[in-house]
Amino acid sequence: MINQRELELLGSALQKLEEGTSDLPEFTPTFDTKRAAGVLTEVAERMQDNFPYFHPQYAGQMLKPPHPVARMAYALSLWVNPNNHALDGGRASSAMEKECIVELGRVFGWDQPLGHLAGGGTMANLEALWVAGRLQPGKKIIASTQAHYTHGRITEVLGIPFAGVPVDTRGRMDVVAIERMLAGGDVGTVVVTIGNTGLGAVDPLADLLALRERYDFRIHADAAYGGYFGLAAELDSEPKRHYDRLSDVDSIVIDPHKHGLQPYGCGCILFRDPSVGTLYQHDSPYTYFSSGDMHLGEITLECSRAGASAVALWATHRLLPPVPDGEFAQGLDSCLRAARMLWRDLHNSSLFTPMMPPELDIVVYAVNAETTTAVSARAREVFDKAAERELHLALIEIPSDLFATYAPDVAVDSETVVCLRSTLMKPEHEEWLERLTALLEASAE
Ligand SMILES: *Cc1c(COP(=O)(O)O)cnc(C)c1O
Repeated sequence: MINQRELELLGSALQKLEEGTSDLPEFTPTFDTKRAAGVLTEVAERMQDNFPYFHPQYAGQMLKPPHPVARMAYALSLWVNPNNHALDGGRASSAMEKECIVELGRVFGWDQPLGHLAGGGTMANLEALWVAGRLQPGKKIIASTQAHYTHGRITEVLGIPFAGVPVDTRGRMDVVAIERMLAGGDVGTVVVTIGNTGLGAVDPLADLLALRERYDFRIHADAAYGGYFGLAAELDSEPKRHYDRLSDVDSIVIDPHKHGLQPYGCGCILFRDPSVGTLYQHDSPYTYFSSGDMHLGEITLECSRAGASAVALWATHRLLPPVPDGEFAQGLDSCLRAARMLWRDLHNSSLFTPMMPPELDIVVYAVNAETTTAVSARAREVFDKAAERELHLALIEIPSDLFATYAPDVAVDSETVVCLRSTLMKPEHEEWLERLTALLEASAE
């Protein structure tokens, strides 16, 4: 888990950082190192109680380890502990954040977006929908029934009416249903999920955009999980058609802490039209004095925010720029290939039935049995058996009618079915796949 080089590199970088304060009278905070050592050992023991998220045999939830350079940069910045709310709290890290925003904007073909990092995708989506509500007052926000569950809650917090749009058998939002809702005249914003969290399905953005010729509505793209896949060379033509149109939406959320190799606490909101910044206008009697330049707090809902997140992301962009054909993009291609390989292996297995072919790197699959209740019980059983073999999976509950599309011979005796779900978001999953499928088969025998 730990590469010793990481600790050495951090040590030398910290010395360099310290040179920046050499004009100050010497001051080194002290603490009881002996007791702290005891406490830290206790922490290490407590933290052993976790799934091994970093390891390729963790193939379950959407968890991807931070890149070592992100971890080192994040840790390094903690000796400064910058706060990216105002330049008074984090001058260097605010500048780094603004550079990161320009780089993330380019991923979607935007040159000058207004945007900033956020605590996560939920906070970033809250901001996008807050802006949407301000610009389309009194109108509904609609999103896929497979959209992230927080959209329902966010709209509740904002006091904006919300409705779910049904999905097709691939888990994508149904455009005919959207048009029916738009025709009602009370929809102000449509949220498209570019890679939904459960199934990894990409909503049909290109087709939705065509409806803008007849109806007036905003589009917010929740690409918290899937956003980076626009950089991949091996996207299938159908999702690619929608990724190619992301530059036409009004706002985009992408989570660097999902696929972008960052520690938690790093989401991002981008607005195509920078003038939405005026909606945020507020006066702070405490901050914003040290510089006439824009403080990030003037365009965010959150106040204090870890500057460390910006430092870590900036370092990662330096090492692995988020551009097509680069090393980072190739890592995403490995994930796409791993998911396709797993789907094919499951398709050829007599023990499993995969659901829709993966558009991104999530594969959902059932353990074969005669009834949907038995299928659900088998999924839970295989989940446990696999964990005993140190193969860590996830579970997902899907509607039985969706399940029946892919397993028509199973008797339906329940409304929903529990399936297994693997997010293959580590590039190493491709190399490890043969081993993963062997463990999976052994766990289901
Ligand atoms: C993870 C996720 C979110 C929520 O983001 P957090 O960073 O967990 O707050 C929202 N939407 C989608 C599509 C996601 O995958």
